[in-house]
Amino acid sequence: MDNKLMLMIPGPTPVPEQVLLALAKHPIGHRSGEFSQIMAEVTQNLKWLHQTQNDVLVLTASGTGAMEAGIINFLSPGDRVLVGCNGKFGDRWADLSAAFGLEVEKITADWGKPLDTEQFREKLSADTEKKIKAVIITHSETSTGVLNDVETVNRYVKDHGEALIIVDAVTSLGAVNLPVDAWGLDVVASGSQKGYMIPPGLGFVCVSPKAWEAYKTAKLPRFYLDLGSYRKTAAKNTNPFTPPVNLVVALQAALRMMQAEGLEAIFARHQRLMRATRDAVKALSLPLFAPDDAASPAITAVIPSSVEAEQVRAVMKKHFDIVLAGGQDHLKGKIFRIGHLGFVSERDILAAIGALEASLGELGYESMTPGAGLAAAARVFAQS
Ligand SMILES: *Cc1c(COP(=O)(O)O)cnc(C)c1O
Repeated sequence: MDNKLMLMIPGPTPVPEQVLLALAKHPIGHRSGEFSQIMAEVTQNLKWLHQTQNDVLVLTASGTGAMEAGIINFLSPGDRVLVGCNGKFGDRWADLSAAFGLEVEKITADWGKPLDTEQFREKLSADTEKKIKAVIITHSETSTGVLNDVETVNRYVKDHGEALIIVDAVTSLGAVNLPVDAWGLDVVASGSQKGYMIPPGLGFVCVSPKAWEAYKTAKLPRFYLDLGSYRKTAAKNTNPFTPPVNLVVALQAALRMMQAEGLEAIFARHQRLMRATRDAVKALSLPLFAPDDAASPAITAVIPSSVEAEQVRAVMKKHFDIVLAGGQDHLKGKIFRIGHLGFVSERDILAAIGALEASLGELGYESMTPGAGLAAAARVFAQS
């Protein structure tokens, strides 16, 4: 049956009808007064979403473009940076920093485990000469479903005093509390196809006054992603280059929906989706990849032992038109990941868990009581 595809991957995420309808409008001129009004509203609402008075700049780029802008605008060749690496996206930060000639020191943890905040404390407190220019960290590590403790790492960065904290919030923004001003985060990068509930194509960078100070002396080359030009034009509710106007109109619709739901309610919903998914997976005797105390509310990774992860994905797609994500790099074929980020409801989780049970049954998986997963998820939803 057509038109029944259900995306349960951590991006692109499902898009609400209001947003699809907004996308279907004729493009308008990006130098028009009408578009400036939209930019003004969007800019205000982006600050609301980030819980900040800082600039939040809109780029035509995927999330990685926002990450790159977050590096090249604030650092210089040879600068020493500490990079947290416990998954694909932490590694991307390290590769990106190395590509621009930064001196990268990695703080690593096994994939599936959270970063050890003590290691950041030790490195930062030993740096009495203030050589470390930035600490770079992924909040929700999408490749493993681990949520890193940015709040604690940030405290050590503040004790250090000099270093900037640069955060990949691509699958945490709009899913879990990330109060940019209360914590004093310097650079926060995100992308449209995740918690924002719109298609891919926009990147966002949130920049603190301290980061703007660093911008003045940063020497890496920059042009298209020079955030200074975005800041200048944002002050006039416009853009340095032609933005994807339809995506900005979609963003306006999505941010209105988020405001109507409320930040607390959005975070609580993601907590419920995460708990229901994890309880259901446990009830089906499938091992979870990330521990309970460091689980991402955006994505749950499962590492099945007596059934093939890729076969589960194949049956889910073929039989139920539900798309789950696979593993990346060395986890290819070993894990499958259930996305529950953005425009996802409790009903979607019940549908996905029901289909998962049916798929496991079809594959001859015997370590479950049929219905146990659904019952566990329903219990979580009944409590709330
Ligand atoms: C999706 C994602 C990105 C950005 O990826 P793009 O494909 O460039 O949009 C970055 N970090 C994390 C944690 C992500 O989940």
